[in-house]
Amino acid sequence: DAKRVGGSGWRAYDPASTLRRARSRLLEAELRTGLDQGQFFLLFQPQVALTSGRLAGAEALLRWQHPTLGTISPAEFISISEANGFICDLGQFMFREACKAATSWPSHVSVAVNISPVQFLRGDLISDIRAALDASGLQPHRLHVEITESIFVERSEELFSKLDALRDLGVTIALDDFGTGYSSLSYISSLPLDKLKIDQSFVREMVSDSATQSIVQAVMTLAHGLSLKVVGEGIENALQAEMLAAMGCEEGQGYLFGRPQSARQIQALSAAHSLLSGGHDVSLGALA
Ligand code: C2E
Ligand code: MG
Ligand code: MG
Ligand code: MG
Repeated sequence: DAKRVGGSGWRAYDPASTLRRARSRLLEAELRTGLDQGQFFLLFQPQVALTSGRLAGAEALLRWQHPTLGTISPAEFISISEANGFICDLGQFMFREACKAATSWPSHVSVAVNISPVQFLRGDLISDIRAALDASGLQPHRLHVEITESIFVERSEELFSKLDALRDLGVTIALDDFGTGYSSLSYISSLPLDKLKIDQSFVREMVSDSATQSIVQAVMTLAHGLSLKVVGEGIENALQAEMLAAMGCEEGQGYLFGRPQSARQIQALSAAHSLLSGGHDVSLGALA
């Protein structure tokens, strides 16, 4: 831990970043074995129709249960997998598992899968999705793919032809984390989208900040003008759900309605009359 500062040209020893790099390398070396040995699995978070309270769908969220390192968050392993291309192998797994899970749910319940920008631009995305649909027999419209604004940084010909190919597969296309990127409201009108997910940061701030509330209202109006359905993300309390419902938001997702859970638990939830009542003391009736 001897370090030299000043004009010596030696880099200051930073234990935290050294540890981070070591952990990154360790995780990277474990990815392949992890996938082969079944350490990766999907959890599904409920998406609820805000007027009826019925389950509308579930978002697949990837988890890595490592035998000695424990549960590793996607925030950590997704970026490592993007950097080395492994995300494309993970993607194939995700599509296959998500489609299979959804076939055990009623036909009005959809499944959403996140696509990372790297996967979108470099992976064998279209054939992976087609293979997963074919193997499971899932109706394509029940598969929702979530893309983020970051894929539009590079507005290439290839990007648009991939979007068209997705559209041709018949899957539903959702724009995730809307508001955190840099696409203008008018730009998204030129894209083949079906759904817009309002990022959880807006849902959180909306309640106490009237400027944020105006932004959410404006996004809602624009989305509906473009015939897009809107999903509010990160709903943790009844007030947030009520405000979004009052603004005409079709669906909601967040800890209020349920944490990410197993495919079997989603199947059980799909039988419930309403996820707005019973279990939660939430009532949207007053807004009707
Ligand atoms: P995302 O797609 O925006 O997913 C929503 C994240 O917010 C999830 O975290 C979810 O657990 C969390 N969340 C849901 N409701 C609430 C809430 O009420 N409050 C709070 N504070 N958080 C909530 P998770 O599962 O850790 O995933 C984080 C991100 O990792 C995802 O963000 C997504 O970008 C990425 N990710 C997860 N699974 C996959 C995957 O299978 N493939 C790819 N490419 N990315 C994935
Ligand atoms: Mg998502
Ligand atoms: Mg999101
Ligand atoms: Mg997010």
